[in-house]
Amino acid sequence: MRVVLTGAAGFIGSHLAERYITDGHVVLGIDSVLTGSQRNLKTVSSNTRFSFLERDVSGTWDEIERRVSQESIDLVLHFASPASPVDYLAFPIETMLVNSLGTKNAIEFASRRKARFVFASTSETYGDPLEHPQRESYWGNVNPTGPRSCYDESKRFGEALTAAYRRVRGTDTRIIRIFNTYGPRMRRDDGRVVPNFITQALESKPLTIYGDGSQTRSFCYIDDLVEGIVRCAASTELSGKIVNIGNPEEYTIREFAEIVCEIAGVPLEATACQLPVDDPSRRCPDISRAKAILGWQPRVGLREGLGRTLAYFRANP
Ligand code: UDP
Repeated sequence: MRVVLTGAAGFIGSHLAERYITDGHVVLGIDSVLTGSQRNLKTVSSNTRFSFLERDVSGTWDEIERRVSQESIDLVLHFASPASPVDYLAFPIETMLVNSLGTKNAIEFASRRKARFVFASTSETYGDPLEHPQRESYWGNVNPTGPRSCYDESKRFGEALTAAYRRVRGTDTRIIRIFNTYGPRMRRDDGRVVPNFITQALESKPLTIYGDGSQTRSFCYIDDLVEGIVRCAASTELSGKIVNIGNPEEYTIREFAEIVCEIAGVPLEATACQLPVDDPSRRCPDISRAKAILGWQPRVGLREGLGRTLAYFRANP
């Protein structure tokens, strides 16, 4: 299979590239390296089935088209986008463009080349959810102009555009709503709770718990997510559908802080920090659809996954 993967140098993108290469496929990875890094592609960069193009997919696709003009393309995975709150707050316009113009460019390309299209959406489309846990049928509770709106609303636009291509052009689409994911290759400074707490625990610094720490998240290990994405892309039954991929084990942020410290072998010390504006108070995926259609569910428990992630952070100071 020939795969075009946008966002290949990012945390999730690089793991996906590695998986498709390991499975014997040919991958063209594209990334603007705004928030990603080519260092993430070390394990695949010397493989002859992998090639890389540094490009912003919101701009022209001429060079991408030229690279693969003679080849049939089977699968387009659109994973390019800043994804941590700190990153998308730093690059709100780039975030909106990659999820709007970037999605348009990627799905137009997939549609013309008769390739399957997978859009990487997010649990952020549910906003601060009033339904719990979140099923794919839930429409969400999003502030359309708040600081997180650049991400939430542009991903919602990307979903709407994907649905429109499906209706009008019959494009073979799938939308994956990705919940909080963690693991090796997360950027130490991406501002998310996992790298922040791990770094602070390893440096024996107080953990920055935002608000009272009663807000919840559900953390999925990267290998589980990648398995879910690969199954989703391969499933014919999921064509035209949306699927949640995430781990339904829900923790308060305070509980999560305690587990990180336990695994790092340090006592929990916390420093009071303000809760960011519009920070969702609860988040947990309902994964019945993924289980029923893909036979997928997470395998790696939080303590095991955090142990592996901590080891990565220790080895890559
Ligand atoms: N959070 C925290 N301390 C940090 C970073 C994040 O308490 O140093 C909280 C944040 O307020 C949110 C949760 O952890 O409630 C997850 O935040 P993250 O930025 O990882 O991702 P989000 O789920 O908000 O996209």
